[in-house]
Amino acid sequence: MTFEQLGIIEPILKALSEEGYKNPTPIQEQSIPLLLNGKDLLGCAQTGTGKTAAFAIPILQHLQTDRHRSNRIRKIRALVITPTRELALQIGESFSVYGKHTVIKNTVIFGGVKQGPQTDALRSGIDILVATPGRLLDLMKQGFISLKDVEYFVLDEADHMLDMGFIHDIRKVIAVLPTKRQSLFFSATMPTEIVELSRKILGNPEKVSVKPEQATAEKVGQQVYFVNKEHKPNLLIHLLQNNPKKSTLVFSRTKHGADKIVKVLQRANINAEAIHGNKSQGARQRVLGSFKSGEMHVLIATDIAARGIDVEELSLVINYDLPNIPETYVHRIGRTGRASASGIAISFCDDEEKDYLRDIQKLIDQKIPVESDHPFFDGSLENAFNNPSKSNRRPQKKAQSSRPARTNESAASPKGRRPFVLKRR
Ligand code: AMP
Repeated sequence: MTFEQLGIIEPILKALSEEGYKNPTPIQEQSIPLLLNGKDLLGCAQTGTGKTAAFAIPILQHLQTDRHRSNRIRKIRALVITPTRELALQIGESFSVYGKHTVIKNTVIFGGVKQGPQTDALRSGIDILVATPGRLLDLMKQGFISLKDVEYFVLDEADHMLDMGFIHDIRKVIAVLPTKRQSLFFSATMPTEIVELSRKILGNPEKVSVKPEQATAEKVGQQVYFVNKEHKPNLLIHLLQNNPKKSTLVFSRTKHGADKIVKVLQRANINAEAIHGNKSQGARQRVLGSFKSGEMHVLIATDIAARGIDVEELSLVINYDLPNIPETYVHRIGRTGRASASGIAISFCDDEEKDYLRDIQKLIDQKIPVESDHPFFDGSLENAFNNPSKSNRRPQKKAQSSRPARTNESAASPKGRRPFVLKRR
């Protein structure tokens, strides 16, 4: 399948070929024809599958083909909402890249920075607005944004919107959108709240699903390192010293933890920086920029800050802490092995994280190979993991109540879980 065969117009084809895109990815192949046909879409897919182009290309094509419909003043005809600033910037960049030979203009708005440049861009007129929910509502309230001309609406990473508490904001936005519109809804997982929200937004949608374990199983080599908590810093140093030139993304569960890891590495003369929600937007951009350009090899991130980070040649992901939500593991390791690259994902597992590892293995339906050939290997942890006695297993009730609602639900009913339904052609 080629982009020509999908009926993409010349100016976009030219941009795609300049970007080096030869063939559509599965989600693009499935979604683009439906979207060009004006259908609503429910996409079960995560970042790393090529989903941005899957929605950006048809929107650009509609707007470019239809550009004479709007009179001289540009109006916001497409709205994309996404949970984080980093994702918003990346989506805006993608629209600019795929649309560089069209006349369509986009801008990106998000919180944490001065609104002046954003309102200037809005005033000058744009066709596509990419926004995070808080700043969008804020600028709507101030009268800088009207959504009455929106014809294309994309809700991106819906499950993450829920995790971040944005659902009420989303409802407020939907309430003011014109009812006649094409809507697209993307989520990597489909917990009940998300399914309900999708019903409010979409009218009789087509469904497209791409399975992330695809990447997990085939493209990302996974390993578990059983290690005592106090040896984690030294194990990390050991791994980084043995992979000096590899672009490595290290995940920490907390912001404070991320800062601590940076200090430990700097003491060992390893150049690393952290990216998390307490850093200013400027600092986040700068750090991300030097990581993306390859100037700095090691980035320590929390989940929210790392969401959607798209770094070419990212070869190593290290889970310094295992996530307590198993779906997060899939998101994290999806940072490597993207598009056509292959990568390695290493997970540290200490005594308190054994249950998290069990949940992850259950979700991905795989046993992650154990790497014991390292100086900090703790065989007793591996034994305890493989032979959980009743006494040291987490009591079912307590563990469930300590987890977020959506994970409870899927843990309670594994068969009811539908995060990674594969519908392949
Ligand atoms: P996304 O899932 O949208 O974040 O895309 C993941 C990565 O795949 C990005 O670096 C895109 O530039 C790249 N990509 C998207 N579509 C294609 C394609 N058809 N061919 C090659 N690379 C692609």
